[in-house]
Amino acid sequence: MDVEQLNERGELRHLISLAELTRSHLELIIEHASRYLTPAGQPAPRDDILEGRTVANLFFEASTRTRASFELAAKRLRADVLNLDVNTSSRAKGESIMDTIFTLQAMQVDIFVVRDASTGVPARIAQQVAPHVCVLNAGESDVSHPTQGLLDLMTIQQRKGDVRNLAVAIVGDIKHSRVARSAYQALSKFGVGELRLIGPAELLPEDDEFRGAIRQTDLTAGLDGADVIMALRLQKERFAQLSDIPDPQEYYRRYGLTLERLELAKRDAIVMHPGPMNRGVEIESAVADGPQSVIQEQVTNGLAIRMAVLALIQRHLGGPRAGAA
Ligand code: ASP
Repeated sequence: MDVEQLNERGELRHLISLAELTRSHLELIIEHASRYLTPAGQPAPRDDILEGRTVANLFFEASTRTRASFELAAKRLRADVLNLDVNTSSRAKGESIMDTIFTLQAMQVDIFVVRDASTGVPARIAQQVAPHVCVLNAGESDVSHPTQGLLDLMTIQQRKGDVRNLAVAIVGDIKHSRVARSAYQALSKFGVGELRLIGPAELLPEDDEFRGAIRQTDLTAGLDGADVIMALRLQKERFAQLSDIPDPQEYYRRYGLTLERLELAKRDAIVMHPGPMNRGVEIESAVADGPQSVIQEQVTNGLAIRMAVLALIQRHLGGPRAGAA
């Protein structure tokens, strides 16, 4: 990636990938996010740090939770928020993405939150926007989903502490997963004890990726003594051919995370899933809703992480409130 994510003062300007950030950048974001957590039942945390700023959510690929999360995060920081409807956007009429971006930039949009099915789009936008404008990657093809990686790391640290002592098992369609790639980037910066990638051989990533991770096609062996289990969806939209998509029932029989299989992991293992879940395919409902599941905590932390990232890039935007975050 040839886009600088930090400005000349070393502050976060764009968030495109976790790979090029240091451990202390990730710590700063997570530490900041923890300030945006309040106990359930109390009013959601708020801050006026983005007052007068405009955030545009450009989701060129379907999303429910990530888009809602970014929208609420920006609104709780008092930004004006524009959600571009993918179906009626001018991209569908053939306008290039950059023409859309420049049009919105002329309307004084300060922050673009971008999701796209093609590799490189968030970085390309970041390279071309005006110097004060910021770009956040909200999910890029199978390559990168940095706020997801951050919320996953935050959730694991909250529940389990130092990741150097942990065996983390990611189960499922890792080959097509930006969630797994960003989780790997985050966890490896913190020296994760053991990272296991478990799935059918054809859904495991290439050998030159995920350096140091253990690959495993046998779920029983892969779950043995694990501290953290992250189940992933079959990313049907990213298979080259429909005929390559595994049969859901057969997949559940071999790789579904059931209560019975969960017993192979440590007694206090936590279960994660980025959503959307396919119950009865990669995960049994009793596991998804069970006492070891931290799936709802991931969602709560996700909003806090997005508020933190937006608040930190406000330092780049500058103005009267610069540095207040
Ligand atoms: N919501 C996650 C993503 O955007 C995971 C998924 O779609 O399966 O990548």
